[in-house]
Amino acid sequence: MILKNLKIYPDSCLFLDRDGVINKRIIDGYVTQANEFIFEEKALEAIKILSNIFKYVVIITNQQGIGKGIFTQEELELVHKKMMEDILKNKGRIDAIFYAPQLASENHADRKPGTGMPSKAKIKFPLINLQHSVMVGDSISDMQMGRAIGATNILISESSSIQENLYDYKFKLLFDFANELLSIFESKNQY
Ligand SMILES: [Mg+2]
Repeated sequence: MILKNLKIYPDSCLFLDRDGVINKRIIDGYVTQANEFIFEEKALEAIKILSNIFKYVVIITNQQGIGKGIFTQEELELVHKKMMEDILKNKGRIDAIFYAPQLASENHADRKPGTGMPSKAKIKFPLINLQHSVMVGDSISDMQMGRAIGATNILISESSSIQENLYDYKFKLLFDFANELLSIFESKNQY
């Protein structure tokens, strides 16, 4: 998709969902340890590009496997430690990671489509303007959350049953979005 009307401001935050955007989603399962965390195609390159464009890059991820007792917060943090090492090695940057360990049945505000995680990002980085921000995700809950904070929604999906009014742009990979954004910045000499 062409990013016709997407404006990036100094106070825009890039919110990234994790599973299905940064790493390959395990269908009906969870990433419980680092060796199960497989980056999506060209995701590391995408994060490098995007961290040069956005002043804030924040991962927000639902991880109810913790609530279910399938893995612990400590195990999740080990997965994220390895992920961050790989991102840094590839010249990318993530400014913060927020995760929601609660069960879906708890309807906790932190769990997407709740807006607790972007609110926490705003507390950590008060200059963030949520309405200038961009939410990238592969699930309906990501898109609903993005709508709730007034962000621009990027759906990552090959074919999707998610209704079109829930997202603004759709790409197959995070890299495709990053690459399209980069070409706009290069053509405007903003990058
Ligand atoms: Mg996802």
